[in-house]
Amino acid sequence: MSTTETPTTYEVKLKGRLEVAAGTLAFQFEKPAGFTFKAGQYVELSLIDPPETDAEGNARAFSIASAPHEDFLTVATRMRDTAFKRVLSKMKQGAAARIEGPFGNLVLHNNPARSAVLLAGGIGITPFRSMALRAANERLPHRIFLFCSNRTPEDAPFLEELRRLEALNPNYRFSGTITQPEKARSPWQGETGFLTAGMLSRFLKEAVTPVYYLAGPPGMVAAVRTVLANLGVDDDDIRTEEFAGY
Ligand SMILES: Cc1cc2nc3c(=O)[nH]c(=O)nc-3n(C[C@H](O)[C@H](O)[C@H](O)COP(=O)(O)OP(=O)(O)OC[C@H]3O[C@@H](n4cnc5c(N)ncnc54)[C@H](O)[C@@H]3O)c2cc1C
Repeated sequence: MSTTETPTTYEVKLKGRLEVAAGTLAFQFEKPAGFTFKAGQYVELSLIDPPETDAEGNARAFSIASAPHEDFLTVATRMRDTAFKRVLSKMKQGAAARIEGPFGNLVLHNNPARSAVLLAGGIGITPFRSMALRAANERLPHRIFLFCSNRTPEDAPFLEELRRLEALNPNYRFSGTITQPEKARSPWQGETGFLTAGMLSRFLKEAVTPVYYLAGPPGMVAAVRTVLANLGVDDDDIRTEEFAGY
């Protein structure tokens, strides 16, 4: 699928941050005038003159978690102990970072007769949040099935918001699994264990000639590809975004 935007570099100010799951922060940046993107695309975020750095450098790729119609740009990440994330977590409101983008082709197909099946591993939910918000806002006719896998409900970014979207968009279904139910601190009505063919078949009963979208850490993407292959899904119907670096 081709995208028309030409990647450009901008300096953007941090507007705010919010915890969206355990140890997971969403950072809201101002959206530069003229910046357009398609839901599902990503940016390269660079720190400007950071006080520390490491072998991985001062830049990381992040999917845009906000929707194109929103007037800010949100990225969300697991806050771990790397120089990049230490500096990011201490950035003051109003401080500037550099973004380059948009990049990537993980964008919704055009044909509304085909369902979209969005399969997220952990923080891989970010491009799908953007797509789901867009679909609700534009009242897209596509049937959308969003399924996320996390260790516990507390680890699941944007969980409540993504559940609530079902009430706003009759064409959208949300479900998920948790892989460490014994560690859950809040109630969970969904599936448990790693994603299986049986789980997907139950969730996708009403899906029509689906296109599958996968996003998350490379290990998760590879595992889900195997599940889809076992279900007989054609490779041509699978689009992936590997969060290389995790
Ligand atoms: C197209 C694309 C889109 C992406 N989109 C996103 C996105 O939306 N959000 C996102 O977060 N990333 C995204 N990524 C990945 C992102 O670019 C970083 O590579 C990723 O966040 C890892 O960050 P890091 O290099 O700082 O290392 P981290 O993986 O954050 O940290 C590595 C270090 O942390 C420690 N560590 C590792 N695991 C744990 C753990 N479970 N608990 C505590 N400490 C641990 C270890 O000491 C390790 O050396 C994307 C990548 C690509 C290519």
